[in-house]
Amino acid sequence: MITGIHRPATVRVNLGAIKQNIENEKKHLNPGQKLFAVVKANGYGHGAVQVAKTALKAGADGFCVAILDEALELRNADIVKPILVLGVVSPEYAPLAAANDVSLTVPNLEWLKEAEKYLQKEDLQLKIHLGIDSGMGRIGFNEDDEFVAANKFLENNDSFFVEGMFAHFASADSADDTYFKHQVEKFRHMKSLLTVHPKWIHVDNTAASIFDKDIHSDIVRFGIGIYGLNPSSNPNSPDLKADIELKPALSFVSELTHVKTIHKGDGVGYGSTFVADKDTIIGTVPVGYADGWIRKFSGFKVKVGDKYCPIVGRVCMDQFMVEMPEKMPMGTKVVLISDNPNDPNNIKAAADYVDTIHYEVACLLSDRLPREYY
Ligand code: PLP
Repeated sequence: MITGIHRPATVRVNLGAIKQNIENEKKHLNPGQKLFAVVKANGYGHGAVQVAKTALKAGADGFCVAILDEALELRNADIVKPILVLGVVSPEYAPLAAANDVSLTVPNLEWLKEAEKYLQKEDLQLKIHLGIDSGMGRIGFNEDDEFVAANKFLENNDSFFVEGMFAHFASADSADDTYFKHQVEKFRHMKSLLTVHPKWIHVDNTAASIFDKDIHSDIVRFGIGIYGLNPSSNPNSPDLKADIELKPALSFVSELTHVKTIHKGDGVGYGSTFVADKDTIIGTVPVGYADGWIRKFSGFKVKVGDKYCPIVGRVCMDQFMVEMPEKMPMGTKVVLISDNPNDPNNIKAAADYVDTIHYEVACLLSDRLPREYY
């Protein structure tokens, strides 16, 4: 996808805020605990390499990504700290990961056996983290027998170095910790079956760490906190209070490209879902659902100049329209997402408006939007 550098629509990323968020979390860690910065999905839409380089300056000990290509992107950017791929990589790429010193997640015994064949052919050793499904229902061992067999398989096996064992929480951001405790118990049980000795045992994501869930984790896989966002984002329950200060890093800005008055009976956008009942000033913003600014944002108020104006009509693929209280010139600044959590168009409010979580709003911002770092 081509990045639009000749259009006034930009995702702005405050690297100072990112550095500060990580430094705040570093101070909050238990003694000896490591911080792995989670920069998957292009650093939650903020830009993986820029975020990773900033994380290094702030003292990150390693990185987590979702797919092998994201790990290779970091290696190509001369990042040498440990990188763990959290998702399942096809066993045929085990040698590629090993050759690039990238650690992979083991989802089951079958994967180990397959990966071993590929590694033996090239006489390579792969760093692995045993994935445990303690209740996320996604990937990893959940049966005792298979986990015991995997441990046996790994004893004295030169194709693998058991660097870690980990699980992921489904609800560490929830005030009700019933299921969280169930997951902790399951993980402890699986850990008791270990006969190999992983270097790092880890379960903490941002929520488990900053809401002080108080369970042993050698590494915090710090994701959403990097970006200054509170993971407790259920619109139906109040946010849990974070133990550390978080400063949102992302804002999304554009400009008016067109301003006009329409008259009673004139429609706006596909399907004419908005029809003027009087003379109405309409501004056009050159951003649409192809940028990740989805159609559900119709009705959301963005800041035009110093006024909050509702989006009227349907959001188009590349443009949307706002109703303005007064004429403002072409080129007037439009803030779609503010990095000030007190502004009504902050990212959490935007996510609530379209019935999702801020993670998704940030990740959806497409590569067509340039990222500007400051
Ligand atoms: N660990 C795993 C396995 C994940 O999938 C994720 C994110 O989805 C994280 C850690 C980071 O979570 P968060 O962004 O909530 O800190």
